[in-house]
Amino acid sequence: MAGEPQPDCLFCKIVSGDVPATIVRETETTVAFRDINPQAPTHILVIPRVHHRDAATLAAVEPQIAADILREAGHIAADEKITDTGYRVVFNTGAGAGQTVFHAHAHVLGGRGMQWPPG
Ligand code: IMP
Repeated sequence: MAGEPQPDCLFCKIVSGDVPATIVRETETTVAFRDINPQAPTHILVIPRVHHRDAATLAAVEPQIAADILREAGHIAADEKITDTGYRVVFNTGAGAGQTVFHAHAHVLGGRGMQWPPG
């Protein structure tokens, strides 16, 4: 059922503590932790505690939690001191766009120059 923990979901296991992660911030609705394969000096994932397969589904079903994720991204940027130089918030949505973990998440990337368009 939408929102319920999924036994085979890696990020549900990080939320429950069954898989370790370097957690940098937590709220009632979100968990933020460092990406295991960082693509920038700051690369932090912000996820909802509830399980939804992608950000669009999360926003459709629980829009307040989608807003919580964006707010947390801003707090993380401030904590990491990357607001002045700029940072990127990315939601890969669907395998064709590079999504590999099907539990909604935002990538917060910063600390280096960014190119546009993205690859
Ligand atoms: P996606 O490709 O947009 O789905 O992003 C998934 C991200 O999760 C990738 O950047 C991975 O490096 C990251 N990742 C996978 N396993 C772990 C883990 O155990 N801890 C932290 N990050 C992970």
